[in-house]
Amino acid sequence: MKVLIVGSGGREHAIATSVAKSSRVDKIYCAPGNAGIGQIAECVPIGAMEFDKLVAFAKENQIDLTIIGMDDPLVGGVVDAFEAEGLRVFGPNKAAAILEGSKAFSKDLMKKYNIPTAAYENFDDPQKALEYLKTAKMPIVLKADGLALGKGVLICNTLEEAEAGVKEIMMDKKFGSAGNHMVIEEFMTGREVSVLSFVDGKTIKIMSSAQDHKRAKDGDQGLNTGGMGTFSPSPFYTKEVDEFCKKYVFQATVDAMAAEGRTFKGIIFFGLMLTEDGPKVLEYNARFGDPEAQVVLPRMKNDVIDVMEACIDGTLDQINLQFEDNAAVCVVLASDGYPVSYEKGFEIKGLENFENKDGYYCFHAGSKLNEEGKIVTNGGRVLGVTAKGATLKEARANAYAATEWIDFANKYMRHDIGKAIDEA
Ligand code: AMP
Repeated sequence: MKVLIVGSGGREHAIATSVAKSSRVDKIYCAPGNAGIGQIAECVPIGAMEFDKLVAFAKENQIDLTIIGMDDPLVGGVVDAFEAEGLRVFGPNKAAAILEGSKAFSKDLMKKYNIPTAAYENFDDPQKALEYLKTAKMPIVLKADGLALGKGVLICNTLEEAEAGVKEIMMDKKFGSAGNHMVIEEFMTGREVSVLSFVDGKTIKIMSSAQDHKRAKDGDQGLNTGGMGTFSPSPFYTKEVDEFCKKYVFQATVDAMAAEGRTFKGIIFFGLMLTEDGPKVLEYNARFGDPEAQVVLPRMKNDVIDVMEACIDGTLDQINLQFEDNAAVCVVLASDGYPVSYEKGFEIKGLENFENKDGYYCFHAGSKLNEEGKIVTNGGRVLGVTAKGATLKEARANAYAATEWIDFANKYMRHDIGKAIDEA
């Protein structure tokens, strides 16, 4: 088979690594890819939003399966563009990707189908939102409706902060058209867990759980980022939580989408908060979480192509999805200053240390080959260093040991990824 992967981050490198393990695949392309992906796939210089060029490439090169890693093309309808030409593609179509593309849609869906989530109101008029805030309980959560690079959520402690937030999102349009509508939501407390799943329209198969670390600095301080590290499985995703979610969240979401005429095929990511009143859905994503993919996929025993094809063909019920009985931790190596401002273009040394090391992975996010043929830093999050271990603690020790194998100027990482494991 020939496979095309669309995207350029650590997630797509993790997907490409799993695809490369499949005995059914003999050629992988990635658009646009990065320096790390380039070691196992042929990178083609087509952007993820250039649908016409992607479709033309898939036709010309007789691609058997295209895998969409990123949210923007999915929400923009890239799957529809492929399907219109009779091409096989993994991911939800535009009608289904709205599950991630509009927070107002997903909140209304949960309300309509009794899927547990925080209480909320939707607004398309900033004056009405400001009026509502006057009687609302603080802290409160403001969410831009559309995609905002994971940054469209503001947690406000005071009325003044919340009023400023409404102004930023809806009037100043800090997140562009994503802020045309807004959700104002009850603030919840509890531990967060990420659950990824494969969906074929009617059947859902849950992957091993994970936990992300979104803030830039140790102790969950600093700004929100695309993710500074992950671990899998989450010890807080207990049997009781699993049973609750199977009963009230997972299948309920798939059935709700089908009932709305928006049959979902692909990955559903459930961002859950384990509150005192039970698990509640924080958000849905319509694709792999970037840092979560880097700890979940390396532990998956199945051939990823078999599973993705079953999602497309509606035969997921025949797949026995299995994960290794171990753990994995990913520590992100970033450029100092991320997510605000940082320098790029520094040589990354030590990548060869990961070659032929079982259970260790160095997934590239912001890297590129420079004119001299050297791999240099090219983004805020540069690499995801993942290691497996028999236990979470062992995996964490292994991952942190492996971060020492890599060197580049302004290398920055959190030192407390997986610290929560000690409290389990
Ligand atoms: P989201 O993109 O909706 O997952 O929001 C990003 C992050 O904001 C989540 O991972 C939570 O840490 C936080 N968050 C979102 N909604 C709430 C809420 N209702 N209460 C508390 N924290 C929230």
